[in-house]
Amino acid sequence: MLIDITLKELNNGEARVVRIFKNAGETVKAGEALFELEANKSNITVESEAEGKICKIMVEESQSVKAGDVLARIEGPPCPQAAAAEDTADFNYFGTLLKPQEQELECDITIIGGGPGGYVAAIQAAKMGAKVILIEKDVLGGTCLNRGCIPTKSLVRSAEIFKNLKEAEDFGCQAENISVDIKNVIGRKNRVITQLVQGIEYILKKHDVRVIRGIGEIKDCNTVFVKEKAAEITIKTNNIIIATGSKSSSLPIPGKDLECVMDSSDALQMDELPEKMVIIGGGVIGMEFAFIFSGFGVDVTVVEFLDEVLAAFDSDIIEEISKIAKSKGIKIFTGSKVEQIIQGEDGQSIVVFSKDNEKKYISADKVLMAVGRQPSLDGLDVASLGLELNDKGRGIKVNEKMQTNIPNIYAIGDVTNRVLLAHVASHQGIVAVKNIIGVPSEIDYNVIPSAIFTDPEIAMVGIGEKAAKKQGIDVEVGKFPFAASGKALTMGESRGFVKIIKQKCTGKILGGAIIGPHATDLIAEIALAVKKGLTCEDVIETVHAHPTTAEAIHEAVLAAEGGAIHFVN
Ligand code: NAD
Repeated sequence: MLIDITLKELNNGEARVVRIFKNAGETVKAGEALFELEANKSNITVESEAEGKICKIMVEESQSVKAGDVLARIEGPPCPQAAAAEDTADFNYFGTLLKPQEQELECDITIIGGGPGGYVAAIQAAKMGAKVILIEKDVLGGTCLNRGCIPTKSLVRSAEIFKNLKEAEDFGCQAENISVDIKNVIGRKNRVITQLVQGIEYILKKHDVRVIRGIGEIKDCNTVFVKEKAAEITIKTNNIIIATGSKSSSLPIPGKDLECVMDSSDALQMDELPEKMVIIGGGVIGMEFAFIFSGFGVDVTVVEFLDEVLAAFDSDIIEEISKIAKSKGIKIFTGSKVEQIIQGEDGQSIVVFSKDNEKKYISADKVLMAVGRQPSLDGLDVASLGLELNDKGRGIKVNEKMQTNIPNIYAIGDVTNRVLLAHVASHQGIVAVKNIIGVPSEIDYNVIPSAIFTDPEIAMVGIGEKAAKKQGIDVEVGKFPFAASGKALTMGESRGFVKIIKQKCTGKILGGAIIGPHATDLIAEIALAVKKGLTCEDVIETVHAHPTTAEAIHEAVLAAEGGAIHFVN
C-alpha cells in the first residue's frame, strides 16, 4: 500500500525544508523523523505516519512548502484486504512489518504527561544534564495550552476587541456593522495553540528530550511501558515524574449527560453562539466564561452553590466583580444548588435549582458545567504500585520536594490536587527535577499569585484580609481606586482598585489583591514584595513610572502607610 506523507497544518502559510533525514530506498519506522521544516521562527519535525520503504522524496532542502503538500511517498503494509490475501501466500513480506516492534530504552527521568508541569520538568531536567523521556497521550501542552489558560485568553482577547469596537465612539472613533464570527474566533484560538505547541516541540527537540506518543503505564518504580503506534516500548528509568493533570468534574444530577450540557473544553470549540447560556458554578472557570460569552452578546446566568461567587477572594473584590457583572447583564444566583437539567420539547434546556428552599427554573440553549476539576489518575495503577493518595483519595500525596511515598517516583501539577494552576505545576516540575538531580528545592505555597481573566481582571497573592482575620494576624489595609489613576482613565478602564495587606507590627507586605486594568500583570510586583519580605517603605522608596497602572500599587502602599497622594478617603 502506498502512503503519502502530507504536510498537515501550518500556522503561517509557508515553511522551508531545512533537513531531510532519509533517502529514497531506505526503510522508516512509524513516528521516525523524516523532515525538519522552519516555519515562523519555530521548527517543525514531520514524522512518518507509517512503517515501510521510502519510494520517493518529493521535496528538496531549502524548498518552500505549504499545508497539503506531499513530502514523501512510502510503501507501507498492505490494506487489510490485501493482507488477508497475503496470509495464504507461502511468503508474507508485510506480515513481519505488522508485528509490534519491541524496543527497550534507558533514561534518568521518565515523565508521564506533557502539560505545563511535565514539559517544563523535561526541559529543566535536560538543561541540568539528565537523559529524559517524556510520554504524552495527546498533544503537548496539556490542559493549559490546549483546553485551558491559553485558549480562554484568546477568547478573552476576541471579546475585548469586540467591546472596544462597540465603544469606539467614546474614544472618538467610528466602527460600523460590528459582529462576532465565533468560527473565526475559534479558528484564531486554534492557530495560537498550534504555534505554541510547535514551539514546545521545537524546544524539547533542541534539548534532546525524546517524546513518545502513547499512554505511559508504570510497571514498577524503575519500569514504564508505552505503546507508540506499532512499537511496544519498555523504558528502564532511574526516576519517574507523574504529571498527568486533571479532568473536568461533573455534578451527579439527572440531565448531566444531555447534549446541551458542555464542559469547558466543549465551550472552547463552539461553532455557533447560543442565545442563552446557564453556567453552573461561579468559580474561576464559570466567571471567566460568563464574561467571555456575555462579551459576545450571549445572555448569561451563573448559578453558584455558595453564598458568593469566587469565594476564595475578599468580599470587597467579590462585591466589585458582582456589581460589574450585573452592569454587563450577567445574572448571578448565589446560595443556589443545581439539582437537575431537563430537555424541553422546544429543544431548550431547563436548569432546575433550589434557593432558599424554593425551586427555580431557568431555560437556556446551552449549559456550561464548571464545578471544579479532579486529578486524572487514568492509566495509573495506583493501588498495585502502592502509591499513597491524599485524604479522601483525591490526588497523589507528595512531600514538599514533590516526592511520593515511593522515593524515586515524583508527582507534580493538578494530579497532586494541591493548587490547580499551570504556573504551580511548572514550578513543582522544576522543584521535582532539582531534587532528583541532588539540588535541594521546595515550593513556597504562601506566595502563589492567582489571576482571573474576567473583565476587569482580578489577581491576588499572599494573605487576604479575610484569611488574616481568621488567623489572628494584625494587619492594616491600604486601598487605591483606579478611578483616581490617570493611566486607567485614559484607557477608559477606571473600575476596580488595588489593595495592600500590611502587617501592623513589622510594616511588611503580606499580601495584595487587584481588580482592574492589567491586574494579572501588576500582581507580580506584589508577589515579589511578599516573597522577599519587603516593607511598605521599600515599595514607597521605589520610583514607579508615570503614567502607568503600576502607580496604583505605589499609591495603595502609601495608603497603607498613612495616606495616598492622589486620593483622599
Ligand atoms: P472551582 O472550584 O473554582 O469552582 C466551582 C464552583 O462550582 C464552586 O464555586 C462551587 O461552589 C460550585 N458548585 C459546585 N456544585 C454546585 C451546584 N450543585 N450548583 C451550583 N454550583 C455548584 O472550579 P472551576 O471554576 O471549575 O475551576 C477548576 C480549577 O481550575 C480550579 O482549581 C481553578 O483554580 C483552575 N482554573 C484556574 C484558572 C485561572 O487561574 N485563571 C482558570 C481556569 C481554571
